[in-house]
Amino acid sequence: MSESDRLKSDIDELVPDMVALRRDLHQHPELAFEEVRTSGIVVQRLRTMGLEVQTGIAKTGVVGLLRGGASKPGAKTIAIRADMDALPIHELNEIDYRSTVDGKMHACGHDGHTSILLAVADILNKRRAELAGNVKFVFQPAEESIGGAAPMIKEGAMQEVDGIIGLHLISDYPLGRVGVRSGTTFASADRFILTVKGKGGHAAMPEASIDPIVIAAYIVTALQTVISRETSPFAPAVITVGRIQAGTAFNIIPETAEMQGTIRAFRAEHRQKLVRRIGEIATGIATAMGGTCLVEVIDGCPPCVNDSGMTEVVHKAAVATVGEKDVDDSEEVMGTGSDDMACFLEAVPGCYFIVGTNNEEKGANYPHHHPRFNIDEDALPIGVEVLTRAAMEFLR
Ligand SMILES: [Zn+2]
Ligand SMILES: [Zn+2]
Repeated sequence: MSESDRLKSDIDELVPDMVALRRDLHQHPELAFEEVRTSGIVVQRLRTMGLEVQTGIAKTGVVGLLRGGASKPGAKTIAIRADMDALPIHELNEIDYRSTVDGKMHACGHDGHTSILLAVADILNKRRAELAGNVKFVFQPAEESIGGAAPMIKEGAMQEVDGIIGLHLISDYPLGRVGVRSGTTFASADRFILTVKGKGGHAAMPEASIDPIVIAAYIVTALQTVISRETSPFAPAVITVGRIQAGTAFNIIPETAEMQGTIRAFRAEHRQKLVRRIGEIATGIATAMGGTCLVEVIDGCPPCVNDSGMTEVVHKAAVATVGEKDVDDSEEVMGTGSDDMACFLEAVPGCYFIVGTNNEEKGANYPHHHPRFNIDEDALPIGVEVLTRAAMEFLR
């Protein structure tokens, strides 16, 4: 049996355990920085393999270090990252491994990511003697919303790491396909809060008030022109106002109106420009209409930018796994979603790629963050194989 066939058969053997673990995690979802049970399972499994394990990084993060038996001084270290957190969504799937926690659900596939990375650790650990370098398995908390990557880096997770790889399972991407692309893949994400201050009063006497609702309405409309009039059609970007809150009754002009929204961009300089223009437009309009506007931009996550060398390594691994025709480097691989894998990719050269899980026949065709989101578990061994091959190739 060739080395390549041996790898495939080793992975096949792990599939029942991977599926069982993924379903177990699915039944017990934990939100950002609360991944106590999940990280406990990760720690226990990594320790059983004999890896050096660090716990409590960024609260619930875990790092396992596998030292290759064929490492010489100066040998390289590759990190492989998986996120572990679930979402505050009530699951509507009727499956026997449905979430057991009301209002919490693995609706983004991070249960699959965790299961995949533990299988990769197992496979590489069995090849420890022949590995000419080290592998760091990085299990990150809080990818959704708050961000666990940045504090993990701050606490040293990327020290002595030469490259990083990771994947996201994608439900609207066909099963059997792997998308890997150099440059920017996922967008940046910044949340903005605009608080318009006017002057409250009686709704029947607007001349004695400054109406913050009317000011907010103008701001929402003007923000649309940042994308349509100030942004190149060749530079994709999004500004969405997702929430407006103002007023208590039909006959009162309120004091304030608050808007919240998100900004997505694919380039750092573009991201900065959008942030700046939102502030200028909001304050300019508010001032022109006699009010003021407080501008806050928070929760920033940079775009995911893949290194060309690391992308080549992953691309080669993907071709060996699913064949040339099912490896995609087109713009289809890009998404306006964000992922704080971006922080790791800023810290060290890396490649973040996507693995398709879409299969209508199995009901795995709902979008991410949907109460009926699910994956075709046949994608799990594909993820394992690409990551394993890429790590071995990097350390060769
Ligand atoms: Zn998500
Ligand atoms: Zn996700």
